[in-house]
Amino acid sequence: MALLLNPGPVTLTTRVRQALLRPDLCHREPEFSTLQSRIRQQLLTVYGLDSDLWSAILLTGSGSAAVEAMLTSLVPDTGQVLIPANGVYGERMARIAAIHGIGHDVIAHDWTVAIDAGAVERQLQRRRYSHIAIVHHETTTGRLNDLEQLAHLADQYGAKLLIDAVSSFGGEALDFRNWPVDAAAATANKCLHGVPGVSFVIARRSALEQAAVRSLYLDLASYHRAQENGNTPFTQSVQCCYALAEALAEFFDDGGLQARHEIYRRRMKIVWDGLTRLGIEPLIDESASSSVLNAFRLPAGMEYTRLHDYLKEAGFIIYAGQGEFAQTIFRIAVMGAIYDSDLERLVEEVGKLMSLKA
Ligand SMILES: *Cc1c(COP(=O)(O)O)cnc(C)c1O
Repeated sequence: MALLLNPGPVTLTTRVRQALLRPDLCHREPEFSTLQSRIRQQLLTVYGLDSDLWSAILLTGSGSAAVEAMLTSLVPDTGQVLIPANGVYGERMARIAAIHGIGHDVIAHDWTVAIDAGAVERQLQRRRYSHIAIVHHETTTGRLNDLEQLAHLADQYGAKLLIDAVSSFGGEALDFRNWPVDAAAATANKCLHGVPGVSFVIARRSALEQAAVRSLYLDLASYHRAQENGNTPFTQSVQCCYALAEALAEFFDDGGLQARHEIYRRRMKIVWDGLTRLGIEPLIDESASSSVLNAFRLPAGMEYTRLHDYLKEAGFIIYAGQGEFAQTIFRIAVMGAIYDSDLERLVEEVGKLMSLKA
């Protein structure tokens, strides 16, 4: 089996894979209730959050379900969202708002640039927004958006942040305490190393009190109410929950958030240094890049499928660019059960392919 270097799902550890084999469970029985409550508490613990102020709400669905639940539930009927977008996932939030008729404005950016704080501030001066919706780690390019700066602007203009933290939760710092965050959406199968199928929203309890209902299945407040009572509105993916609880236990055994971040940084450095030594160019600046995933320009004359297929044969699944970058870049993520030596071998294999061509 090839190692997954795509941005989720990740290569599982044996410990998490084994958790999938636990006994069948009815989601209406107390055993599931206990499991669900444990996961909700573990999720708050990742960022040291106080359960009197925050609620972790567990959904069966991929990361997009959590993002859609967050936007459709936490923007009140009279609310307005400002969406600065510099990639596929920012643009996806704008689509969600449009589909559900949520009042919103988009500040569209080229995908290779940072969010323009000046442009955001000018828009905040023009119009009142209840929320700013922003992607933390824009997986399209591997850019870590500067939330500190946006948090400052949101504070100044009385808006709250709704964060797509799908590809950063558990791997990058998020300052829930000092930023005006109403919620962050994320998933089991990226930096937390669980299996795909469950996602979650970390919501401020006070924000849930003003929740709107725009969807039956994605109504966050109804999940929150049921889960506070040890219940769930719909069938949960029991096996995915087993895996997530185990992945979270492993996350804490490994040292928690800071430790995982450091591991990713070390892994990413092996990839970055190795590939740039081969003459491969990164898409964006190292200082703006996440430790979770980086994007690189394809070497001159090499098609993505050639690189992908060669590396797959060598035991690695890499990831293509999206949209305008589909033919020009490739992406490497370093989440999951992989070792430094795997990444050293990845670099070697890329070098071999390039010398074959030369
Ligand atoms: C992966 C990802 C998502 C969600 O994708 P799904 O395929 O629904 O899991 C959303 N936002 C970002 C930034 C992501 O990286």
